[in-house]
Amino acid sequence: MIWHTQTIKELSEALQSKKVSAQELANYFLERISQSAQVNAFVDINAEQTLLQAKEADAQLAKGQATALTGIPVAHKDVFVTKHWKTTAGSKILSNYVSPFDAQVVAKLGPGQAGMVCLGKVNMDEFAMGSSNESSYAGPTQNPWDLSRVPGGSSGGSAAAVAAGLAPAATGTDTGGSIRQPASLCGITGIKPTYGRVSRYGMIAYASSLDQAGPMAKTAEDCAIMLNAMAGHDPKDSTSLDRATEDYTRLLGKTWTGEAGLPLKGLRVGLPKEYFGDGLSADVRLAVESAIDQFKKMGAECVPVSLPKTELSIPVYYVLAPAEASSNLSRFDGVRYGHRASQYTDLLDMYKRSRSEGFGSEVKRRIMIGAYVLSHGYYDAYYLKAQRIRRIIAQDFQNAFEKCDIIAGPVAPTVAGKLGEKVSDPTQMYLEDIYTLSPNLAGLPAMSAPCGFGADGMPVGIQLIGNYFSEAQLLQLAHAYQLETNWHQAQSPFAKKGGV
Ligand code: GLN
Repeated sequence: MIWHTQTIKELSEALQSKKVSAQELANYFLERISQSAQVNAFVDINAEQTLLQAKEADAQLAKGQATALTGIPVAHKDVFVTKHWKTTAGSKILSNYVSPFDAQVVAKLGPGQAGMVCLGKVNMDEFAMGSSNESSYAGPTQNPWDLSRVPGGSSGGSAAAVAAGLAPAATGTDTGGSIRQPASLCGITGIKPTYGRVSRYGMIAYASSLDQAGPMAKTAEDCAIMLNAMAGHDPKDSTSLDRATEDYTRLLGKTWTGEAGLPLKGLRVGLPKEYFGDGLSADVRLAVESAIDQFKKMGAECVPVSLPKTELSIPVYYVLAPAEASSNLSRFDGVRYGHRASQYTDLLDMYKRSRSEGFGSEVKRRIMIGAYVLSHGYYDAYYLKAQRIRRIIAQDFQNAFEKCDIIAGPVAPTVAGKLGEKVSDPTQMYLEDIYTLSPNLAGLPAMSAPCGFGADGMPVGIQLIGNYFSEAQLLQLAHAYQLETNWHQAQSPFAKKGGV
């Protein structure tokens, strides 16, 4: 039987009807992972623990106490701390780190709660800084659609694992696009929820006011099922929102108005003119515009909107995110955990050497930028100014949402580029984030869903941005689109290699 092409929904039905056991599924995916070294998606495996979790899931299934996720294998981004797997955040400084506890997301999805079976940890840009997964200490992950290309970043390992059929689903984190951009570049679906909806407890911090975790899977429906288990208030995270949870699957398959008729009748889709300007490549534009045409066929009305500060999102983000990172990363000093230099003269020298040896060049660059913009004399000119523009960016979205319900546009300006193409030019790399940064700056939910193929047959995703707490509506729209189209079902050449 071939299981890796199936969705969470399908696998769950197979588990409940005893067509397959959680242990069989775990073995099946572990076997595929062991034959996929060239993708470099997984950075740590612990088969014994995986099988233990699968056994527990089978016991739950046998007792009739299964959830929609019991026994479904999952890959966790290596930024979530785990007791039974190493947690490196893609960095040498944590290369041998094992956490004494599980992150809240890992605990909520795992045994005793949702019952998913962890297959291991997946690769990422170092401390989630990057848009190509090339800054990882474990080496770059490769795109399963074309192994000479990047999978996107920073959740590149998560996206590649799902697109290669090495896991039915994965967790990701998104500070400025890291769920949506790799999802788009690898042809899968992913959602970044409203800031504060999912707990950041045990998620290694990059830029705390922007970081948010979310699910990455084949379909919007699968993302909704996973988000149900991930979301919720967590007193252990002071930025977690004390707000009742909701059922993110409740609107799937329903029409926008809730009455009989075209599925998207009554939906106003806002198209920001700044998202369709010169920087957008023709192939991506074509794919995104045909998805918008499809929305119209399904009854949606399209309205022009404007997000005038889109261009400023890059300098604003690349001041604020490094500022927060420079502070967050000060805890990695060679004393409390992680790499410590083997030779040093005194304490200060030990800090210096441990950090110099432990961090990669992109992380060092951002620590320096962050320390600079926060320093006396520059704080007002950079940090404070960026915070002010951040506020305006958030307000611009509220103005747009007076005219529309959901904003649609591209995720990234181009399809996945070649490995190595942009590593030596950080500014070029930062420009890739033009369409994804603003929702994080505003704290809004946003997602990516496959909508076609661009140059060289590489996948393209459409970005959907909603107002605060509109995850269920975003997933409703993406699901309606996925019922009418089959882009999300296309298999990467790597996944097509069949069962094992
Ligand atoms: N590419 C962006 C950065 O490098 C976003 C990364 C992310 O969302 N974690 O910071």
